[in-house]
Amino acid sequence: MECERPRNLKELVATVLSHESVHFVGFGRHLITEHEGQCVSLSEFNTVLEVSNSDLYVTVEPGAPVNEVKEVLRTRNLFLPVHHDGSIGGLLGLNLPSEFSFWFGYPSDLVLEAKTLTGLGEVVRTGAKTPKFSSGYKVYKALAGALGLLGAYLEVTLRVFPRPEVIAYLKVRNGRRALESPVRPWGGIVRNFGELETFVTVGGWREKVDKAEEALNALSSSEERPGLEEAESCNRVVMVSVPRGLEEEYLAKLGRGYAFLGSGALFLCDPDVRALRDKGFIAVITKNCSKGEDCFGFRSPTLRKLSSALDPKGKFITIRPPPW
Ligand SMILES: Cc1cc2nc3c(=O)[nH]c(=O)nc-3n(C[C@H](O)[C@H](O)[C@H](O)COP(=O)(O)OP(=O)(O)OC[C@H]3O[C@@H](n4cnc5c(N)ncnc54)[C@H](O)[C@@H]3O)c2cc1C
Repeated sequence: MECERPRNLKELVATVLSHESVHFVGFGRHLITEHEGQCVSLSEFNTVLEVSNSDLYVTVEPGAPVNEVKEVLRTRNLFLPVHHDGSIGGLLGLNLPSEFSFWFGYPSDLVLEAKTLTGLGEVVRTGAKTPKFSSGYKVYKALAGALGLLGAYLEVTLRVFPRPEVIAYLKVRNGRRALESPVRPWGGIVRNFGELETFVTVGGWREKVDKAEEALNALSSSEERPGLEEAESCNRVVMVSVPRGLEEEYLAKLGRGYAFLGSGALFLCDPDVRALRDKGFIAVITKNCSKGEDCFGFRSPTLRKLSSALDPKGKFITIRPPPW
């Protein structure tokens, strides 16, 4: 379906109100499932509005490409600890972990403040530009990972960090031991495409990274991110929740795929979803979920309540069945 591309807030609200059902996209490149309803792209909302070196935040619109935002920050000696080849809206709508998530958390953990759009066409601003703020409903957090089912981000303020001199990926024999060591890696990547390989992410001054390499007895070190090209040939990718820190053990047992160390999430390539769910795993189909299939495998009464508050007319229930 052709996406509508409103150019300003007035056009966006009019678009949302004029359709019975809409779904938002940034670049529309996610592979989860086909959304229903009118596609509304926020690609015209793509400005980096403010960067603060002193207070360590960036305020940005959802259609901005994550890689471009990271480049703007790089020129200001700042760093956004995420990896996402899409838009800021897609990054937050999916809320997937990365090789930085052990230390810095999921993308939702970086959101300080947001301006969001409800199903009634209202604009709501929650949070504040300071990390110390803690009052009111955290609507800005609730929308993260909700796949656009609770509304759209119109503007977000994300926490940023001083840019490290080096980010290195150290290949190690035991990622869990590395996470628990005094080196305190930021996270890492585990891949299992025939051979189980673990890389931990270490960032900071070069001297610190060199010392980490020695302390962890690293098998190799590279500033290039370990590739996950093999994952592109998976027909389906299924995200499975496991205890944080045990990604290697579970990936070795459950089969082909990859994981982000310390994130508690595995991404399995073409697994038997029903068998996983029968064993008690939460298994969410994140690539090529068929229409009408149960993509989530769980029900969330909390999401239902949030949806009835933020979208009482059910305009954004665009994945069927919804996860509640
Ligand atoms: C190896 C590999 C594996 C991949 N695996 C997956 C995978 O498992 N799952 C997957 O989805 N993609 C996967 N991808 C595809 C891709 O990297 C990302 O999904 C894509 O870049 C998402 O960014 P986007 O901006 O296109 O998001 P979009 O497709 O535009 O949006 C993603 C989600 O966020 C919501 N959203 C978008 N904008 C907003 C907003 N402003 N406010 C609220 N919600 C919003 C959307 O409704 C949608 O549900 C994979 C790619 C590669 C190379």
